[in-house]
Amino acid sequence: MGKKYEVPNLPYAYNALEPYISEQIMKLHHDKHHVAYVNGANAALEKLEKSRNGEMQIDIKAVLRDYSFNFGGHKLHSLFWPNMAPPGKGGGKAGGKIADKINSDFGSFDKFKTQFTEAAKTVEGSGWALLLYDQESDQLVLTQIEKQNFMHLAGLPILLGLDVWEHAYYLQYWNDRSKYVEAWWNVVNWDDVDQRFGKERV
Ligand code: MN
Repeated sequence: MGKKYEVPNLPYAYNALEPYISEQIMKLHHDKHHVAYVNGANAALEKLEKSRNGEMQIDIKAVLRDYSFNFGGHKLHSLFWPNMAPPGKGGGKAGGKIADKINSDFGSFDKFKTQFTEAAKTVEGSGWALLLYDQESDQLVLTQIEKQNFMHLAGLPILLGLDVWEHAYYLQYWNDRSKYVEAWWNVVNWDDVDQRFGKERV
């Protein structure tokens, strides 16, 4: 067995993203939802180990699915927190190399923002909109994830992710996902996105 998964601390205070994302949402989202995914992923790995040791009978398909779901939740939320920064530090337009790449791959920052917003608004049910970097074609690509399983991501590095599960906005925006997505742009941490891009593109 390797190390257990752990919930990372938020890189800012719970209320730091206000008024765009409320303290109440951040507390619930980080301390309850993310914690549940970490516990779920650790529990699934423990079940697999016990099964190998003959201490427990498991439905391996169900356990692996459970692992993928919870691991996906853990990884995506671990990305989501540093992808955001308090208004002023976050928000605005991208800078650095990622800005140039967005301009060349999407035509302009505004075209990128419009298409990412569309992707986020139209995720069916719970899920995520993601900006990924595909090394093979040397381009930035968008994807939607339904729920949070990682099974079909094919290993492309994620630069920017937006959680559009209702738990991410319902307490503040009710069922108005569009309003939440528009507000979220004010807290995007472009320095973090640029750093992630720099690591992937040599
Ligand atoms: Mn979430």
